[in-house]
Amino acid sequence: MAELAAQGQPRKAADRFLIRGINQSIVLNLIRSHAPISRPRLAALSGLSQVTVIKIVNSLLERQLILEREGMESTGGRRAGLLELHPEGGFAIGLIPQPDSLTAAIVNLTGDLVMARQWPLTLAGQQQRVIELIAACVEELLSGGELPRARVIGLGLGLSGLIDAERGWCLQSHILGWKELPIREPLEERLGLPVFVDNDVNCLAIYEKLFGLARAYNHALVVAIGRGVGLGLILNGDLYRGAFGGAGEFGHTAVALDGRRCNCGNRGCLETYVSESGIVQNYLEAVQAASAVPLQLDPLWQPSTPTLGEVIARARAGEEAARAAIGRAGLLLGVALANLVNLLNPECIILSSPDTSLGVSDLLLDSLRTTYEQHVFAQMGRDLRFLTVKKPGYESWARGAGSLVLRHFFAPPAQLRAEPGLPES
Ligand SMILES: [Zn+2]
Repeated sequence: MAELAAQGQPRKAADRFLIRGINQSIVLNLIRSHAPISRPRLAALSGLSQVTVIKIVNSLLERQLILEREGMESTGGRRAGLLELHPEGGFAIGLIPQPDSLTAAIVNLTGDLVMARQWPLTLAGQQQRVIELIAACVEELLSGGELPRARVIGLGLGLSGLIDAERGWCLQSHILGWKELPIREPLEERLGLPVFVDNDVNCLAIYEKLFGLARAYNHALVVAIGRGVGLGLILNGDLYRGAFGGAGEFGHTAVALDGRRCNCGNRGCLETYVSESGIVQNYLEAVQAASAVPLQLDPLWQPSTPTLGEVIARARAGEEAARAAIGRAGLLLGVALANLVNLLNPECIILSSPDTSLGVSDLLLDSLRTTYEQHVFAQMGRDLRFLTVKKPGYESWARGAGSLVLRHFFAPPAQLRAEPGLPES
């Protein structure tokens, strides 16, 4: 009996420590989502006692994670100390590895981009050296002096492909040419920082939910058009990953029987028509079909494969084949989005593109709406909002990877997330 009691003591202390951590996360998260907020309102929303809230708030103020300013309480109009996050209280580093570059963003606690940086770096097919290459860039960033290392709360990586976010592995990325690659553990060991890994579009969706366009929505779809076509699902207010972490492979849903060969091995996948290279392919086919290229529109035109930027420039200049190429992508995307809306009934769809020249162009949106409206079921799409990310580009994707760290920073341990505030014993 004595032995059991002795074992019970440290267990109880550990529970207390865990509960304190959970309550602290609850308070911190309420300050993030309801700032500026008073202590009594925090107590009311969290279900914690005033005494517990005051203790936690004091500790957060001492650690400079939050700020206090004088203000009027929204309920009752009394003077009160209002609390909000201290933007400089902590920083997260977000990384987006691309086949030929690495983009980094430093974000503060309120999700603002503080600094961005890009290294030209061959990462595609470099499975053996990836950890070493990424760690060297992060070390360079940390040794620059602009970022106090003690204030860095973690590193987030957003990767294309199928990611095991729990273990921090890249299971398969066609774009990067990586397979069964452990990332989190070796990088944590190397850098001494908490590391989080997720699919790059999931990172974008987390950013939009925490700080961006989806903040007010519980059911939002974030669609990213780039080298592939990705989807981040916010359902019931949280990121949805599916049973094995693969939810959101929207780009590999089929839109054509015996269609174009996709790099996943199948045929007719959406992204073979809607991704950057898909739109260029649409253009080449349209040129071939018309068999009359209006060369006079661009005197520098060469009979070679143009870049996406060139196709868009030609479309803007009125070239029919280029307009048809983007229009074709829009029509197929519209059908695919109508299918998604019919399945999931979201409140909003957020469109994003890392390529600033595509920037989800009006041409794409116009043709998308035609087929979307045609195929959406009954009243389902009536109140749905289409939103586009104002400043696209890989920097905003890296900011998304940084918000992956913030999500973990603000979230209580998953197993107890649904519980209301727990009383401290
Ligand atoms: Zn595919």
